[in-house]
Amino acid sequence: MKTKKIAILGMFLESNRHSPIVTREKFRVFEGEAITLDVRSDSPDLVKEVIGFFHGMDFNGNWEPIPLLIAHRGAGGPADAVFIRETIEKICHGLTNVLPLDGVYILNHGAMITTEDEDPDGELYEAVRNIVGSKTPVVTTIDLHANISQRMVDNADVIVSYRTDPHVDQYDCGREAAAILGEMLEGIRPVVRNIRLPIVPPNVSLLTDSGPYGDLIKYGQSQLGSEILNVSVVAGFAYSDTSKNGLHVIVAARENSEAAERLCFDIAQKAWADRERFMWNLTSIEKAVEMALVAGEDLSGKPLLLADLGDNIGAGGTGNTLWMLEALYRSGAKGVLIGSFCDPNLATRAHEAGIGASFKALFQGDDWDRPDPHFAVDRVRVKSLHPGKFRISRGPLTGIPVDAGPICLLQLGDMMVLVTTSRPIVWPDPILLETMGLEIREIRTLVLKCRSNYRAVFDKYFDQEMMIEVDTPGRTSPVLTRHSWKFLPRPVFPIDRDFEWSVPKF
Ligand SMILES: [Zn+2]
Repeated sequence: MKTKKIAILGMFLESNRHSPIVTREKFRVFEGEAITLDVRSDSPDLVKEVIGFFHGMDFNGNWEPIPLLIAHRGAGGPADAVFIRETIEKICHGLTNVLPLDGVYILNHGAMITTEDEDPDGELYEAVRNIVGSKTPVVTTIDLHANISQRMVDNADVIVSYRTDPHVDQYDCGREAAAILGEMLEGIRPVVRNIRLPIVPPNVSLLTDSGPYGDLIKYGQSQLGSEILNVSVVAGFAYSDTSKNGLHVIVAARENSEAAERLCFDIAQKAWADRERFMWNLTSIEKAVEMALVAGEDLSGKPLLLADLGDNIGAGGTGNTLWMLEALYRSGAKGVLIGSFCDPNLATRAHEAGIGASFKALFQGDDWDRPDPHFAVDRVRVKSLHPGKFRISRGPLTGIPVDAGPICLLQLGDMMVLVTTSRPIVWPDPILLETMGLEIREIRTLVLKCRSNYRAVFDKYFDQEMMIEVDTPGRTSPVLTRHSWKFLPRPVFPIDRDFEWSVPKF
């Protein structure tokens, strides 16, 4: 078989419109051979779908990766528009120089906005299609928190979305994209049908082990077979606040357009009929504090993990809202660890003071929804220090390098706070905590600024039923009626509740 030349390129960012702009320095850019070198190394830095794609292509047979450029960042605010424009231009320039190609793989998150544009991902897909032409297969992988534009669907042959939240199937998703591309290289031309629903699900309703989203995804997967090639049920990312938001069903059939239409309609019907289940159901701060008090006193009971949902770093939270820190400190609950608080000044201060030193601390927090974003504590003690560079040791992102800048563990009365200089998306890591002298099994209440990933990281230490989703104010609150929306298509469930809609027929 002739060696197949496949271009590798991508952009990856999940944008919360209310979070600080992601400047060019914040992106990790892999160019040319650096991509292949990283993927083929013992500990790749790139996300796992790229690794899965390479392995899947190796399995397919003779191929030559033509690595162009990948700009990667986990989550944040809108990307700097100039940087994204330059990135797309660079990719296009590279692509033009390597024609003819047998195929293209695009690594993508699918929920990026820029400071000027709400669909840079679609712009990339379209630019790629314009260069390679309609006959060259283009496959992409996306996060299931992607906001799908028609431009994305029209310019990719197949869009393969994650199927799990927490995202433990990124590698498999890359392999699936490679398998689909393999079939296309053998000659199939998939037909794709898609429907966007007026549902913007709160992210807390999107865990896939059980619940309405898991049910839809499982149903879709049960329909794969000789006719249906891929089913991607993409929930979207509300906080991007774009006109393309909405739960999106995308079905790719091998050749039968009716099969794609039937299944796409069927899944959309099921989703719409089940919409009341896409809701938030959270625990108040007061109740969470009560639970922490009990956990701190009753050492024979199970330890508690509190998810600070208003400040979910993985969705663009700033990592420094004060609500939980303040409430738990004032309550005097014992054995509490605030798993992260981003405060570069405090981290620097602790590093200058050294282990064992005490000082008066002023926690500087996010000013979202509060006029005075400070919290003073008369005496904190530096328990341990760390340079902040490590690799994730557990969960979906195992092996990914993290640089949080200098970090410190502070003791405030009966509570501890891990203070970081920056805000890495997955935080903290069990091995890191142990390296800093903490015995995780002795923590009675762990507070994390995270929504779902922790379930696959701390499952060894905390029972799922003791993982409590707390209703804290902030930029990433899942209570969607609290946010002001500028661009969401309206009406949209569950922000708007009383409106008629029916699934459009093909
Ligand atoms: Zn996601």
